[in-house]
Amino acid sequence: MAAPLPPGSTIGVLGGGQLGRMLSQAASRLGFNVVILDPEENSPAGRVSQGQVVAAYDDATALTVLGKVAQVVTFEFENVPASSIERLAEAGALVAPGPRALAVAQDRVEEKTFLNSVGATTVDFAPVDSLDDLLAGLEQLGTPALLKTRRDGYDGKGQVWIRSAEMAADAWSAIGEKPAILEARAAFIRELSVICARGRDGAVAVYPLGENIHSGGVLKTTLAPAKVDAATETRAREIATAILNGLDYVGVLGVELFDLGNGKLLVNEIAPRVHNTGHWTQDGCVCDQFEQHIRAIAGWPLGPTEAHARVEMTNLLGDEVEQWRTLAAEADVRLHLYGKAEARPGRKMAHVNRVRVL
Ligand code: AMP
Repeated sequence: MAAPLPPGSTIGVLGGGQLGRMLSQAASRLGFNVVILDPEENSPAGRVSQGQVVAAYDDATALTVLGKVAQVVTFEFENVPASSIERLAEAGALVAPGPRALAVAQDRVEEKTFLNSVGATTVDFAPVDSLDDLLAGLEQLGTPALLKTRRDGYDGKGQVWIRSAEMAADAWSAIGEKPAILEARAAFIRELSVICARGRDGAVAVYPLGENIHSGGVLKTTLAPAKVDAATETRAREIATAILNGLDYVGVLGVELFDLGNGKLLVNEIAPRVHNTGHWTQDGCVCDQFEQHIRAIAGWPLGPTEAHARVEMTNLLGDEVEQWRTLAAEADVRLHLYGKAEARPGRKMAHVNRVRVL
């Protein structure tokens, strides 16, 4: 195993949004330099980092430059082309998490197949490449069922509920007749998530569960630590550990869960990166998910994951960011503003953590 990366080393991050920004801030506090790769000039992350390469994520020259200046490269989103990872590695950088985690997270069929193979149960599903496949899948899984594109879906985009076989043709055209997955409906009582990490030495660290509330397919609030029974907590830890070890993972990973009650959990999806439902750790834990990720990819020991506070994290979307004026005056609120100039509707602009010390 490589020696821990010393402070003063350079970390590369693909993606200059808020996740890259908060990763960069955590890295900076540990004495690292950070270089961002993002096509948009002056990105939220670029503005708090030592440098930014302004180029597309598959720009061969930019990747070679980043791979040479950075000792380790990571990313803030999962749709990184596999060829970009190869280019970075050729230029001499370690890449973490590795290509296997990305390949699994980029394709919903691969993802569910992997999850079930390590005992992390999911809903029943059927791959769909044609209208005939879809009709056969509906026969097999029954209705209602959810049709999702296999790739490039996020925040509920590229998804259609099908309530009867007659709706199949419309649903197939609504998702653009792209390779898809048909999922049985999970009869969940609530949505949970678990943020976890694995170090270069194989050590695993798991944060307490968060309970998540979505609105219009987008995360609105996370309450953490979620009030769960011991069986649920134990099962979530088992699932997280199986996934991390199964992928030989290095870094922080987010696992979205459906809580069926009585300690039964299904995995909805995994994100091979820091995760919006883990923002509560910034004000609820001594070592937050951003520092944890930097520690893991730099080969440092993982930090503690116990909560010292109960946190309610709320995303501020679009012009909700204007609430900063009143929120800044509240004693138990910590504001995290992303420095985005334009508050487009639905855009993640900031989040707040309401903190109650335990
Ligand atoms: P996803 O993009 O897969 O995270 O899905 C977005 C949201 O849709 C989830 O947070 C759930 O609220 C809901 N959802 C996704 N898949 C299912 C399913 N198989 N059964 C019931 N609800 C689902």
